[in-house]
Amino acid sequence: MAENNITKIVSFCRRRGFIFGGSEIYGGLSSVWDYGPLGAIIKKKIKDIWWKTYVEEKEDIVGLDSSIIMTEGVFKASGHLDNFADWLIDCPWCKRRYRIDKIEKIDKDLYKCPDCKKDIDAAKNKPRQFNLMFKTNTSATEDNPYYAYLRPETAQGIFINFTNVLNTTHRKLPLGIAQIGKAFRNEVTTGNFIFRMKEFEQMEIEYFVHPDQAQKYYEYWVDERFKFYTEKMGLNKEKLRRRQHSKDELAHYAKACTDIEFNFPFGWSELEGIANRGDFDLTQHSRVSKKDLAYFDNATKQKFIPYVIEPSAGVDRTFFSIICDSYHEEEVKGKIRVVLKLKPNLAPYKIAIFPLLKNKPELVSLAKNLFYDIKNKLPAFYDDTGAIGKLYRRQDEIGTPFCVTVDVDSLTDKKVTIRDRDTMQQERVAIDEVFNFVDNKLG
Ligand code: ATP
Repeated sequence: MAENNITKIVSFCRRRGFIFGGSEIYGGLSSVWDYGPLGAIIKKKIKDIWWKTYVEEKEDIVGLDSSIIMTEGVFKASGHLDNFADWLIDCPWCKRRYRIDKIEKIDKDLYKCPDCKKDIDAAKNKPRQFNLMFKTNTSATEDNPYYAYLRPETAQGIFINFTNVLNTTHRKLPLGIAQIGKAFRNEVTTGNFIFRMKEFEQMEIEYFVHPDQAQKYYEYWVDERFKFYTEKMGLNKEKLRRRQHSKDELAHYAKACTDIEFNFPFGWSELEGIANRGDFDLTQHSRVSKKDLAYFDNATKQKFIPYVIEPSAGVDRTFFSIICDSYHEEEVKGKIRVVLKLKPNLAPYKIAIFPLLKNKPELVSLAKNLFYDIKNKLPAFYDDTGAIGKLYRRQDEIGTPFCVTVDVDSLTDKKVTIRDRDTMQQERVAIDEVFNFVDNKLG
């Protein structure tokens, strides 16, 4: 099949209710997207799997849910107020605005407009710096404002709660604090769908360690997170790679950083960054807040500011990579079959149940009974609103691993036909055995 292009993926996501444009009926809002019914299910599954893997299954990580709105001091300390800015340039011909680091430089001071392809002369159209944070007024009155910011990453909520968590959980280092939540950046984008949004969701761990152990844990987390994408999200290894940042590319706080990149329809791009942030954040917050955020090791009687390793993943980019990787078009009997080859743990429904004929009440009732029985054990879907071929296609498109058809023979032999999404092979299985059959195959 031809490579999945972005237009195809966007229209597929819209058509099947995965993702809609933000504020769509009012003309839309650039780089803001809403997740529809099926998108919301997959997105929640991604987050649940991440949370289970790290907060529930690891003994050295605890969870947190800190606020989105934070006071100015937090971002003075973190460096976001001074450094979290992009250099933007306007095309004088088509009037579009771009990040200067994302467009082609063709000569000294000369850039190529990605849209109208004309030259932009940076000497005449001076680039301007633009802070990415959303500022808001938390006071009740306009004339006596109190400014705060929507967090541009969930990480800062973790740093400022470091001693709260330590003191209330009585943990020792190494200790990870994990958080899933929304982050906001006033990004200038070039239409890469949910890759770059103004409102998005992150899954971040700040893993606090003794400085001597930072390198070891940095390497551990790069490997661990790579494995998560292949083993838990089912992404194809060939479409993933690690990319280590060069020294001049590192963010102001980082000692080292490796991106995990995915081969999106527009090329290799960051899915997640794993950084060794050193002691930058805790040192800064100690200095600006004047609260001591150092750690005291009872065993060695040593007091120090821990280093932190940060695996920082985007929920939306993970979602996007999963859709791109699992979307397939296959030719079946002269027609194109669209099938979403999702890893079953991410499929919105694990099983769909249909009566072969919807005008036969006995079949409808048998199919519905089976549906109500299974529904309590597995996410299931019942449908009788079309011919059987159409019902199969609908489920293939949303990645349902198994479809069950109840036919006239089912009334006497008490068996149904189970069809596999990927192979399209069909098997006859006793009604009482449907759950076990599917459950075994899902593993
Ligand atoms: P980029 O270089 O693509 O702008 P970044 O290096 O600024 O990304 P980080 O600050 O490292 O990104 O954020 C960690 C993760 O959060 C990213 O790997 C990505 O998955 C996600 N993320 C960051 N910005 C956005 C955004 N605007 N829209 C969607 N996801 C985002």
